[in-house]
Amino acid sequence: MKLNNLSKYTEIDREKLELIRSAMPETVLREKVFYSKGYIDNEIDYSPDLCLEAPPIDYKLTKVCPKCGKKYPESEIFCFDCAVSLKDIEKVNVRQIDIPHEFNFEGENSYTDFKEILTAENLLELTKFEFEMQDFNEIIRNIKLTAIKNLDSAIKDNEIDLDTLSILEKVILFTKSFVNVEYKSYGQELGFYRFNSIFVDDRQLDALQITTMLHELTHYLIKEILTHILCRLLDASKTKEIESIVTFILSYSSENCLIDEYAAHTVEGRFTLIGYQDYSSFLNIQKTIERSKDEIDMLKTIGNSLANTVKEIVESFIDSDLLEDIKKQFRRDILDEPDYSQLMLENCTLLNDVGFLRAIEFIIVDGFAVSMDNIEKLNQINEMW
Ligand SMILES: [Zn+2]
Ligand SMILES: [Zn+2]
Repeated sequence: MKLNNLSKYTEIDREKLELIRSAMPETVLREKVFYSKGYIDNEIDYSPDLCLEAPPIDYKLTKVCPKCGKKYPESEIFCFDCAVSLKDIEKVNVRQIDIPHEFNFEGENSYTDFKEILTAENLLELTKFEFEMQDFNEIIRNIKLTAIKNLDSAIKDNEIDLDTLSILEKVILFTKSFVNVEYKSYGQELGFYRFNSIFVDDRQLDALQITTMLHELTHYLIKEILTHILCRLLDASKTKEIESIVTFILSYSSENCLIDEYAAHTVEGRFTLIGYQDYSSFLNIQKTIERSKDEIDMLKTIGNSLANTVKEIVESFIDSDLLEDIKKQFRRDILDEPDYSQLMLENCTLLNDVGFLRAIEFIIVDGFAVSMDNIEKLNQINEMW
């Protein structure tokens, strides 16, 4: 990937810069700090948006007045307006709901054999890269609309009352409108994503399960977005084989792994609290890459830009109230201070449209060419779906 060619297509990610600023105490800010290209101005007055002693919050409304229908939190027993005892609202167990979530893509070609896909003609077709921002936005819109439809019908079919759900349960529900969510109670990892399923360790605190789910959902969405782009470029319907090629592309090089991992890390920080994530998730990959500091930074910029797209999709589900609730849950569960030295590792640069399309072109064209020599590996991936 010719990474240095991309540097002229960058701009500052002001929103992320602002998030980092708000997570930093004044003493740290006073020392002038540079975040990649973005500079945090020490003159600006700010109040840290970090309160470690947030009181427990009664999120769920689990009782209802049988007369007026008003909903109450769990701790209440009586409706004083109507002078009657409250009843429990019947509650749906979102962990047990399966939401059908097919994100289809229809094209002229329907490839089910790697040898038919991985041809010199198709590589040439990809190299032309006839793909504009408008095409990209259409793909994102389709994914968003499909997921919203999935969620709507799940709520209707299961008669779910959102007011009765905890914050974690809400996040589980909307994650399930994209991808399977399964539970594990073994191993050290908080969670992982594999073949259209997210595995979350349910022994963890709610806040950590939420973070984990958003992180793994990002991995899923990046796979899904790139799959739709490849389908669009090859005028092909989405098949297991095309998904396998994209899965291979995202994993064959440390560079692509870093982009993917940095994006997941960034989305996590944007919906929970920045600075609290596990930085080792991308640092371990970063260590294995022998490239200049500027090139590593450009990989993070690509990851940051992908995170921005994922954020846009996720924001159609997490409104500002839910976002605030997630942050409260986080402050309630997690008592450690963020590690400010880790915050310095954050990249606050975005690619503009031209740069973003070029980055996607590099990932897909280079990855497709490498796939042509790795049919054996692709077959292995394909058998695992
Ligand atoms: Zn009442
Ligand atoms: Zn990850």
